[in-house]
Amino acid sequence: MFLKENTLKKKIIINKMIIENIKVLKKTLEKIRKKKTINFIPTMGNLHDGHLSLIKKSQEKGYISLVSIYVNPLQFSEKNDFKNYPRTLKKDLELLEKYNVDLIFLPKRGFASTSLSVDVGKLGDKLCGTDRPGHFSGVALIILKFLYLIQPHFLTLGQKDYQQILIIKKLIKDFLFKTKLIVVPTLREKNGLALSSRNKLISEKNRHLTKMIFETLNIIAFDIENFGLKKNRISYLKQKLLKLGFEKVNYIEVLKEESLSELDSLPSRCRIFISITLEGVRLIDNIAVRKRLVKQEGFIKTV
Ligand code: AMP
Repeated sequence: MFLKENTLKKKIIINKMIIENIKVLKKTLEKIRKKKTINFIPTMGNLHDGHLSLIKKSQEKGYISLVSIYVNPLQFSEKNDFKNYPRTLKKDLELLEKYNVDLIFLPKRGFASTSLSVDVGKLGDKLCGTDRPGHFSGVALIILKFLYLIQPHFLTLGQKDYQQILIIKKLIKDFLFKTKLIVVPTLREKNGLALSSRNKLISEKNRHLTKMIFETLNIIAFDIENFGLKKNRISYLKQKLLKLGFEKVNYIEVLKEESLSELDSLPSRCRIFISITLEGVRLIDNIAVRKRLVKQEGFIKTV
């Protein structure tokens, strides 16, 4: 059973608690911090096995897991996207109880309210930053607020949101937080689709198409590793996805892993990134290329 925060007594040993009040959160963490390692796992709820894999990782390491559930309005550029984001708090709390999560933080509605903004620089202009204006600024602001409030020893994030990881990594470094990152690999459905809260917004009729997202990433990785990649190959794959029934291919790009910058003649670790829209639902994914890559005369190849 989770305790409600109003049952908090002065000397209570804190575990299995749902906290909404910031002062209570601070007090609780103050006590825990002296003896235990705090691992913070921010989520927007509608929890699935991907989220649970982050929690399991934290528990394997023996950390106190603090999971937040908060649909952050600042990171949505479209009102309808925010409105339609799946919210399943009751079910989420049951799941967290089943998984024995130590602490749950449910910030109140206005938690994100501010007239300030964070400019995340160049990293925010790429990939999802191009068609979701303000998205990463909104992510950065809420994470900044969380980090300042919680001061966790660790912050656990999923590899699916790779661009987000790079931005948060920079935030931690530039704002001198001591928090260390734990990155967990992307958990997928049987057909390769990365688990996401948005997946359930796709109708049964189009479910079969979703396997093409991961498949496209693998086709590109295979091509690069075996023959090299010409620019028109990506255009061809984009057209193929559109013909299959995807509404929009927001991007397919091969970029340097550390900076998200374009490849050049210097051998670099790279990742392949994809974003598509299906039935108005935006899905993203990425994979690493195992070998280092260079780009010469528009041609991407291994070294
Ligand atoms: P969200 O609730 O979508 O904001 O995600 C909360 C955290 O869970 C983020 O760090 C995500 O990267 C991570 N996450 C979401 N989906 C997956 C997945 N399929 N595999 C691993 N981590 C994930």
